Amino acid sequence: MDLMEYQAKELFAKHNVPVTVGTVITKAEDAAAAAEANGGRVVVKAQVKIGGRGKAGGVKLAADPQEAVAKAEEILGMDIKGHTVHRVLIAPAADIAEEYYFSFLVDRANRNYLCISSIEGGVEIEVTAVENPDAVAKISIDPQTGVDDAKAAEIVTATRFPAEVADQAKDLIKKLWDVFIKEDATLVEVNPLVKLADGSLEALDGKVSLDGNAEFRHEDHAAFELTEDEDPLELEAKEKDLNYVKLDGSVGIIGNGAGLVMSTLDVVAYAGEKHGGVKPANFLDIGGGASAEVMANGLHIILGDQQVKSVFVNVFGGITACDAVANGIVGALNTLGDEANKPLVVRLDGNNVEEGRRILNEANHPLVTLVDTMDGAADKAAELAHAGA
Ligand code: GDP
Ligand code: MN
Repeated sequence: MDLMEYQAKELFAKHNVPVTVGTVITKAEDAAAAAEANGGRVVVKAQVKIGGRGKAGGVKLAADPQEAVAKAEEILGMDIKGHTVHRVLIAPAADIAEEYYFSFLVDRANRNYLCISSIEGGVEIEVTAVENPDAVAKISIDPQTGVDDAKAAEIVTATRFPAEVADQAKDLIKKLWDVFIKEDATLVEVNPLVKLADGSLEALDGKVSLDGNAEFRHEDHAAFELTEDEDPLELEAKEKDLNYVKLDGSVGIIGNGAGLVMSTLDVVAYAGEKHGGVKPANFLDIGGGASAEVMANGLHIILGDQQVKSVFVNVFGGITACDAVANGIVGALNTLGDEANKPLVVRLDGNNVEEGRRILNEANHPLVTLVDTMDGAADKAAELAHAGA
């Protein structure tokens, strides 16, 4: 999970990294009070999960609360590289003397952790790395020892932090390491890490990615999920523990096993070329147990998508045999009743396929077409979606 800047700063504060979190608002009229609370002279910052907000006009200084309202009005609703701004952060305007870059990340290729840092921060680190590679320090970190005093000193020297901030930098680096390790992050990035006019260091921006596999260790991380930015169908699917990704096409897809579903998307997109260019409407992997309940949940999500004109159920019977899947489909259609209102093309193969097909044939449901091959079923589903459009 990627965090917004203000969320990253909340985690920084929890681990005593010098930071000013500020106030998050969603309505421009609240900017005046928020600016008041943050010293009057503030910075108004778009909260979106994408970098380069400054360049895009999503970071603006305001001299007083009134101007903060005007800037918040400009920034709220703005589109930054496809991300709509629903929130802005109001924080005290910092008097910046210098801007540095600092990050910890997982170095998968070397099975290690990596620190990337530079005293030329504020700009995109990728650009600095190309134009002035000597200014970018890369220090590998042994996961067994982590960042102790010696490692922090090594990082400070390699980065060439100015002598007057060296001690502060060492301390701050160890605290950022705490964020990285104790919160199970895969990325902690601070750009810019600034030296303020008074000589103190502060994390002025923050980017954190949390490792979803470690969620069970961090109950408090659930609060970082911002549901209003998610697709409503994907949200509902998540609640039902379904692996669903909404796409733009009109052929709903249900399959078992991620690999089979991925290839089903390809086959449908290919078949669609002959039927008005119809495309898959979603990815949905119902996994191993294709019970009537799981099948009904899956169909319910897919039929909730107004763009869907036909549904392709592509199941390969394994441990859950085809007869159980067939019973699942029949049961799901009974459960859904009138809600099931789009043609269903079903392709079953694998364990106990004959019995599965017999069950579906016997049920003789008016919406269901049984097709023996994957290509044939994809073609039928695409044809029906085109006809229904
Ligand atoms: P990003 O563009 O999405 O990375 O957003 P940042 O939070 O990094 O802000 C971009 C730039 O705006 C920073 O590099 C700073 O130069 C500037 N900036 C951000 N906050 C302040 C502030 O409080 N005071 C001043 N003077 N500049 C700021
Ligand atoms: Mn930044």
